[in-house]
Amino acid sequence: MKLKVCGMKYPDNITQVSELQPDYMGFIFYEKSSRYFDQLIPNVPDTIKKTGVFVNEELNTVIKKINKYNLQAIQLHGEESPYYCNILRSTKLISSTKPIEIIKVFSIKDEFNFDVLTPYEEVCDYFLFDTKGKLPGGNGYTFNWNILNNYPSTKPFFLSGGIGLDEVEDIKKFKQSEASKYCYALDLNSQFEKEPALKNISMLKEFKNKLSNKTMPNYNVNEKGYYGEFGGAFIPEMLYPNVEELRQNYLKIMAEPDFQKEFNQLLKDYVGRPSPLYFAKRLSEKYNTKIYLKREDLNHTGAHKINNTIGQILMAQRLGKTRIIAETGAGQHGVATATVCALMGLECIVYMGEIDIARQAPNVARMKMLGAKVVPALSGSRTLKDATNEAIRDWINNPVDTHYIIGSAIGPHPYPDMVTRFQAVISEEIKWQLNEQEGRENPDYVVACIGGGSNAAGTYYHFLHDEDVGIIAVEAAGLGVDSGESAATSVLGKEGIIHGCKTLLMQTNDGQITEPYSISAGLDYPGVGPMHAHLSKTGRAEFMSITDSDAMDAGLELSKLEGIIPAIETSHALAIFKYKTFKPDDVVVMSLSGRGDKDLNTYIDYFKL
Ligand SMILES: *Cc1c(COP(=O)(O)O)cnc(C)c1O
Repeated sequence: MKLKVCGMKYPDNITQVSELQPDYMGFIFYEKSSRYFDQLIPNVPDTIKKTGVFVNEELNTVIKKINKYNLQAIQLHGEESPYYCNILRSTKLISSTKPIEIIKVFSIKDEFNFDVLTPYEEVCDYFLFDTKGKLPGGNGYTFNWNILNNYPSTKPFFLSGGIGLDEVEDIKKFKQSEASKYCYALDLNSQFEKEPALKNISMLKEFKNKLSNKTMPNYNVNEKGYYGEFGGAFIPEMLYPNVEELRQNYLKIMAEPDFQKEFNQLLKDYVGRPSPLYFAKRLSEKYNTKIYLKREDLNHTGAHKINNTIGQILMAQRLGKTRIIAETGAGQHGVATATVCALMGLECIVYMGEIDIARQAPNVARMKMLGAKVVPALSGSRTLKDATNEAIRDWINNPVDTHYIIGSAIGPHPYPDMVTRFQAVISEEIKWQLNEQEGRENPDYVVACIGGGSNAAGTYYHFLHDEDVGIIAVEAAGLGVDSGESAATSVLGKEGIIHGCKTLLMQTNDGQITEPYSISAGLDYPGVGPMHAHLSKTGRAEFMSITDSDAMDAGLELSKLEGIIPAIETSHALAIFKYKTFKPDDVVVMSLSGRGDKDLNTYIDYFKL
C-alpha cells in the first residue's frame, strides 16, 4: 500500500518527511484548518505527489494553486459535484504532461450508503474514506473498516481517519480481508504530530518499518554506485575528475525545478510524450492475455534513446559544457545524440568503428546532416568497443569543456542511475495510463528487451519494489545460446568489468571480452547494465533468451496483426509469447522500444520481401 502524509506546513519538516519517501504529501488549502498552508513548498522529489486538499473551493482558486505549487493530485473534502471533479481532471497542466489525479473524499461513521459513489466513478481517480466528524478532515479517530466489506466499486481508495502506530496490527489484519482489495493507500495525519501540522519523523519511520516488516532487497543504486554487488566506477585515474563532477551534481541538478520544467517541456513538445500505452487487441486475442504496448517507437527519432539524450544534454549545459562526445555501434545512439546537439547548438563528436561506419551508412548520413562529426575508430576490431576507447581517450584529454553522453544504463557510476532516471518517465507514464485504462497502476508483468538495458530500466523503474509486478528481461540468443554466436549475457556472462562498471559480462576463461552476436545491432553487446545483473542474480527478474529467427518471426507477426513494424531489438521481446503462457486476465505491459524503419533491409533480406 502507498503512503500519504497529509497536513504539511513547515519547510524543514516537509524536507524531513520527503526523505522518508511517502508516495503523496498533502497540503491543506482550507483556511479554517489549523494546518492551513500558504507558504512555499521546498524542493521535494518528483516521486512524491504533491496533493492539494480543498473544501468547496472556487475552481479558479484551485487551478491557480495547481499551477503555483505544481500539484499532481487534488483531494476534495467538500460537496464538490461530479461536474466540478471532471473540469479539474481535464485541466491541462503547465508543468507536466500528466493529467492531475482527483481524489474525492467521503466520510463514514457507523454506516455508509455506497450509492453516492456512483456519479463519481467516471470523474475521479481515487476515493478517500475518512471518519465523519464536525469539521472536514482530521478528527483523529478511525471509522469501522468492516463497512468497506460492502464496497461495491473497483476504484482504488485511500483509507484515512485516525490512523496511527496503534493501528499497525489492525491494518495488517485489514490487508488480509476482502475489504482491502482496492485499498490503494493509507493517509496519515494527526496521529503523527507533535503539534498541528508538525510531523514526528521517528513515528512515521517506525510506522513505515512496522508495516512493511518484510525485507525486500533494494534494487536501486546505493550511494557508492552499487546495485548489490554490481556497479561502481572502475575508471582510469585521469577520468576521475570528470566522473566525480557528474556524481556530485547529477541528483541536485535533476531535482531543480528549472531542470524538471525544461526536461518535461522538451519531452512533451519535442519528443512527443507521453507515448501512448496501446492495448494490442489482436495480439492479445492470439495469445489469450491482455497485452499493452508502450509506444516508444513513436518518439522523435524512433526509439526510447532520445529520453536519455535530452536529459543528458540539459545536464551538460548546467555543468557548463560546450562540447559533446558519444560513441555508437549501430548509430542509433549517435543519431539521438547528434539530434539533441543540433537542438541546443552544441558541438558534437561521435566515435564509431570503421567497420560499423561502413555497415550503417544511413545513420552516418543522418548524424552528418544533424551537424555531428563522425570520427572512425581504426584500432582493434574497429567496432563498438574500439569506438568506446576513443571516446574515453577524448574525454581524458578534454576534461573541462566536454560531456560524454553514454547511451545505455551502463558505464561508471553515476551513469547507470542517471540514464535509468531519465528513462524512468516510461514507467511513470505506464502507471497513470494503465490506471486510466484498467483502473489499476500495476500490471502483472512488465517486459523489455535488453542490450545495455536502458529501455528496460526505464520500464521497470517504478515497479521494482512492487512484488506483485513480475519483471521479464529479454536478451538476444543470436543463433542459439550454445552456438558461440549470441549476446545472452545473463546465461553466459560472468562477473567482470566493462565500460567502467562491474557487471555480468561474456568473457573467455582468461577474462577477454567475447565478441557478441545478434541480428539486431542494439542488442549486440557483451554485457548488461549493473542493475540488470543484480535483478538477474537476485531472481527479481526472469531472463529469457530469444534467437534471431524467433525475433524475426515475432516482428513480422506484430506487423501483420497490429500494423506496427517494430525494431528488431523490440521483436525479441515480442517473441516471448511463443514460449511463455500468461493467464487470460493477466495484464502484460511491453516496452515497444523502437520502430522498424532502420531495420527494413534486414527484414527484406531475411524474408526475401
Ligand atoms: C538501442 C536500442 C535497444 C537496446 O538498448 P537498451 O539500452 O538496452 O534499451 C533496444 N531497442 C531499440 C529500438 C534500440 O534502439
